[in-house]
Amino acid sequence: MQDRLARADVPLEMTWNLDELFASPGDWLAELESLDAARSSVSLYKGRFGDGAANLAECLDAVEALQARFIRVSTFAYLRNAQDGTNPQHQSAMARVAALGARLNASIAFVDAEILQLPDGLVEQYLASEPKLAAHKVNLLDLLETRPHRLSPEAEELLASLGEVLGSPAMVYNRSKSSDIQFLPFVDAAGARYPNSFNVFESSHESHQDTSVRRSAWKSFSAGLKAYNHTYAATFATEVNKNVVLARLRNYGSTEEFLLQPHKIPLDLYTNILQIIQAELAPHMRRYARLRQRTLGLDKLLYCDIKAPLDPEFNPGIGYEDACELILDSLAVMGPQYCQFVRTALTQRWVDRVDNIGKSSGAFCASPYGVHPYILITWADTMRNVFTLAHELGHGGHFGLAMQQQRLVNTRPGLPFVEAPSIMNEMLLAQHILAKSADPRMRRSVIMQVLGTYHHNFVTHLLEAQLQRQVYGMAQAGQSITASVLNQCKGDILAGFWGDTVEIDDGARMTWMRQPHYYMGLYPYTYSVGLVASTAMAGLIRDEGPPAVERWLQALGAGGTLRPLELMQLAGIDMRSPGPIHDAVAYVGSLIDELELSFAA
Ligand SMILES: [Zn+2]
Repeated sequence: MQDRLARADVPLEMTWNLDELFASPGDWLAELESLDAARSSVSLYKGRFGDGAANLAECLDAVEALQARFIRVSTFAYLRNAQDGTNPQHQSAMARVAALGARLNASIAFVDAEILQLPDGLVEQYLASEPKLAAHKVNLLDLLETRPHRLSPEAEELLASLGEVLGSPAMVYNRSKSSDIQFLPFVDAAGARYPNSFNVFESSHESHQDTSVRRSAWKSFSAGLKAYNHTYAATFATEVNKNVVLARLRNYGSTEEFLLQPHKIPLDLYTNILQIIQAELAPHMRRYARLRQRTLGLDKLLYCDIKAPLDPEFNPGIGYEDACELILDSLAVMGPQYCQFVRTALTQRWVDRVDNIGKSSGAFCASPYGVHPYILITWADTMRNVFTLAHELGHGGHFGLAMQQQRLVNTRPGLPFVEAPSIMNEMLLAQHILAKSADPRMRRSVIMQVLGTYHHNFVTHLLEAQLQRQVYGMAQAGQSITASVLNQCKGDILAGFWGDTVEIDDGARMTWMRQPHYYMGLYPYTYSVGLVASTAMAGLIRDEGPPAVERWLQALGAGGTLRPLELMQLAGIDMRSPGPIHDAVAYVGSLIDELELSFAA
C-alpha cells in the first residue's frame, strides 16, 4: 500500500477550495468573534412579541441572519477537521464552534418559548396581516403544532437544563465505540495477519472476496462486540426509556407518534413501509442469498457472507475525470442547467477527493447557505466511488437549487425527503450504464451496486426500524430492555427475514450494537422512504422525460416549503398509496431475476 501523504503535501487541484468560505483562518476567527458579540442583539425582542407582528418578523429575520453566519463559520471548521482531523488547530476550531453554537442556541432559546406562550390565534392573525412574516410561515405553523405538547414554562426550562444529560446515551455509546472498543487482529487461511476495527471491518473485511478473511474477521468483530454487549444494551435501553418518558410527559399517544412528529409523515406510511417491504422483499433477498451461496460454492451462507462479492475478479477501474464524464452523461436527462451546476461542482474544486493522513472516511456533502455545496470523498478509482459521487452530487444539486430559490429558513425539507434526490442520481447513473452496456459482467457489476443500495436501505435500515418498533413496544409496556432481550429480538427479526437461507449466529444477534441510528429517534426508516420515492421518480423520468424532470426540479427547488409527502406529490408520486412501495420491491425482484439469469448462463 502506498504511504498516505500529509495534508500539506497533497496536490491542490484534488482538494476543495475553502477560500470561498473564508480567505484565511484569521478571517474565520474574526468572524467567529464578531458573531459571538452579535448574538446578544436578539435579546432586544424579549417579551415584545405581543406588541405587534413587526417585532416578531424583525426578530425572526435577525435570528435567521445569525444562523446564516453560524453555518458559514461552523462549516469552515467542520470541513477543515474532515480534511485532516489530526491537526490540533482543526480540533480546537471544532471545539470553539461547538461552544459558540451552544451559546447561540441559549441566546435564541427564548424565541420559540415566547411564541408558544402567545395567546391562541395571535400568530395566525400576525401571519394574515404582516407580509414580512411570510418567509417564516412554514416554521411558525410547524412550531404551533407542538403547542399541545408543551409543558409549563418551568418544566420546559428544567428539561432544557438537563439537555446534556438527556443526550448522554448517545454520547456514551459514541465515545466508547470510537475510543474503547478493541478488535483483535486475526489470520486468514494462508496465515496472513490482518488488523481489525469498526472502520476497516465495515469498509473492507465484511465484503472481502476471501471467505476465510470474512469469517475470521467476523469472529474477531463479534468477540469485540461481545465485551460491550451489556454496556451498549444499557445505553440503548436508557435512550428508549428516555423517549418513552418524554412522549408520555408531552402527552403523545405513543412514543412512535412523538418521534415521528418532526418528520411530518403519517403513521400509516411508516407502518406500510415497514410491513410491505419486509414481507414482499424477503422472498427476493432469499433468492439473492441462495444465488450467492451457489456462486461462491459455500456449504452454507453465514451472516458474514451476505455481502461477499459475486464477481470479485471484475474490477473496472475508473479515473476521476472519466467518472465525471460518465456522471454528467447520466444526468443529461436532468437538463442543461442542472448539468452545468454539476459540472461546476466537479471542476471548480467543490470536491475534495484526495487521500491524506487524518482525512475523514466515507463521503458527505455540506451545503453552507449563500456559498455552494462541498463534497468529501476519497477517490480510489472504483465503481463504488462513482455511485457515491453521484449520490453526494444529488444532495449538492438539491440544496444548491433550494438555496437559489429559498430563504435559509426554508431550505431544508423533512428527513424522509432528504435522501430521495441523492439516491435518485444513483438510479439515473445505473439506468444510463444499463441502457448502454451489453457486456454481461458490466451489467452484473452495476446491478450489484444498485442492489447494495437497496440492501443498505431496505434491509439493514428497515430491520433496524423493525427492532425499534418491537423495543419501543416492550418499553411502553414496562418490560425491561437487556442485552439478552436485544440479542434475541435482533436474531428473531433476522431469521424471520432471511428464513433458512442465512445462518444467524451470535454475532448476527449482536449487530444492533453497530449502529448509532438507535440514538437518532426513528431515523432508520427514513432512507427507505427516499429510496421508494427515487425509484418511482427514476421510472417516471425514464417513461415521461422532460415533464417529469420539470416536476422533480420544482420539488428540489421548493426546499423545505412543503412537507415530504407534498414534495413527492408535486413531483408526481403518490406516497399516500402503497403503490410506489410495491413497485420498488418489484423492481428489486427484477434486478435479481437478471442476476440469476446472468450467473446461470
Ligand atoms: Zn445521502
